[in-house]
Amino acid sequence: MEIEVRSQSDNEMVFIVRDAEVPFINAIRRCAMVNVPKIAIEDVNIIRNDSAMFNEVLAHRLGLTPLVSDLDALEGLPLPEDEEWEDFKSGILFELKEQGPKVVYSKDLISSDSKIKPVYDTIPLVKLKEDEIIDIEASAKVGYGKEHAKWMPTTVCAYKQYPKITFNEDVEIDYDCALACPRGVLKSDRRSKKIKILDIENCAMCKSCVRASSNGYINVGYHENDFIFRIETDGAMPPKEVLLKACDVLGEKADKFIKFSEEGGSK
Ligand code: SF4
Repeated sequence: MEIEVRSQSDNEMVFIVRDAEVPFINAIRRCAMVNVPKIAIEDVNIIRNDSAMFNEVLAHRLGLTPLVSDLDALEGLPLPEDEEWEDFKSGILFELKEQGPKVVYSKDLISSDSKIKPVYDTIPLVKLKEDEIIDIEASAKVGYGKEHAKWMPTTVCAYKQYPKITFNEDVEIDYDCALACPRGVLKSDRRSKKIKILDIENCAMCKSCVRASSNGYINVGYHENDFIFRIETDGAMPPKEVLLKACDVLGEKADKFIKFSEEGGSK
């Protein structure tokens, strides 16, 4: 198996995996979405809320506010499988005390740990009118995407098989197929009497070009064992960390399965 990184930024990563199987790639995708630990606000104690927003909605908003969850931030925090996880005080404590008139933003959440804070400062949480007060305590905990979407580190985690475009040289060239492509993958070059493939990795395999060609000049398929994988995060964790952790989790699951099989598979 070969892996080639196409692009990488703070919250997006695209890579090509060659010579792999669909079940393996899909297992990585699922682990990245639901088995990688992430920090999010779990318990909210609303002492005072004069705003027009219901307590439940406000608590939900706080839960979905992305918090820094890189390896450094996660270190030493209890996981859901640990006994102390349930305790309010075992999480990272946040305070939100504001008085209107103002819009309360994510930057107003004061954390007890300088490492763990909202990823973005400008997420609007609630609008307060003149003299309205909110007074809230909250506890952020580590969780998994399989329990709640707020603990899902990925906003996009998807793969597609590597596109394969071929031309039938036995029939007349059909320039209409290039015009039909909605993603600029194909370009007709009448001078050299060719259709050029500009960016095959951008092909969505929608087959608009195939349908537009009346003589079957173009065919679109895919390479069965090659994949284009894309991970995007909400900024809480770098995508590379998500991928590495997902691979670790998959490895641990495989080890457990091997051990289980070696012991006879009776339990
Ligand atoms: S399959 Fe769709 S995206 Fe790909 S080349 Fe044809 S028209 Fe363009």
